[in-house]
Amino acid sequence: MARILDSVLGHEKPVQVLLSAVADDRLAGTLIFAGTSGIGKKRVALGLAQALVCERARTACGVCGSCLRIEKQQSESLMVVEPSGAGIKIEQARDILQFINLQKLARARVIIIDQAQVLGPQAGNALLKALEEPPEGTHFILITSNIASLLPTIRSRAQAIRFQPLSLVDLRKITSAEDWILRSAQGSVESAMQLKDEGADWGVIRNEALAVWAHLFDGRIESSYAKLRELAPDRGASVFVAQVWQKWLRDLLLLNSTAEADLPQVRDSLINLDHLLTLREASNLGLDELGELSELSLRLEQDLVHNVDRSLAFENFWFAFKRALSGESVSLA
Ligand SMILES: [Zn+2]
Repeated sequence: MARILDSVLGHEKPVQVLLSAVADDRLAGTLIFAGTSGIGKKRVALGLAQALVCERARTACGVCGSCLRIEKQQSESLMVVEPSGAGIKIEQARDILQFINLQKLARARVIIIDQAQVLGPQAGNALLKALEEPPEGTHFILITSNIASLLPTIRSRAQAIRFQPLSLVDLRKITSAEDWILRSAQGSVESAMQLKDEGADWGVIRNEALAVWAHLFDGRIESSYAKLRELAPDRGASVFVAQVWQKWLRDLLLLNSTAEADLPQVRDSLINLDHLLTLREASNLGLDELGELSELSLRLEQDLVHNVDRSLAFENFWFAFKRALSGESVSLA
């Protein structure tokens, strides 16, 4: 057994900042770990908890009873709170307050609140005082993929640590998924695992979604689009198609704003590198059109997620898509 932090991939800088704050005894009482979901923020939070409660070493030994219990999430000095249902409820906030009022058993105690963006105003306000000034030796770690939606009163009282998506190199160390999956995951282990393990033939659906773009200028786009809709018969697959298009358009915007000579430098940033030829053909579209199409595909995803009728959502998208390409302005209102 080693320290949790020794098994964390990437995140060298945040880990170093946190450990040196622990070593110097100047770690903020309330921390926000912000960054894309599925990149290992919670793992770092648990590693930090080890560093705070270890009986033997200032920055964790990984082998003492305290360290092992943190690793198993069975420590009396650790509380991990996750949303129950849609949000973090007032009852959970009360549990936290009760926990921090107990007699402290180790030199520190850590409360990790996962997906803190769903902390509702009621629960948030109940915790406000504790978050503002945690009792001595008590540390809050709020984990979030969307720091902007944390209550402003909480944000202003905490120190935010930003986590970057993992590099392709690190992702390759964790999973053996195909290259397009690793690139689509955009640094998130969670996304890569989902695409790899969910069973649906995402690769086939993706190729068909991209074929629509390959037929952009050859008159076969209508039949390609019809085939795609057959291939993506349910909501999950349809949302996936909308996301494939968003990533495609993101690549086009990147290519569009990159000079020919600088192309080698952006290759590794391209999600759809395996369709480079089609990308380059379509990258002649103007920035305005690309921006508009990006918004349309975002809107398609939102419609699908919010249970707009699937056929209707795709029809609306297709109508606006064609208008955008024929140079007419499209109202997104
Ligand atoms: Zn230890």
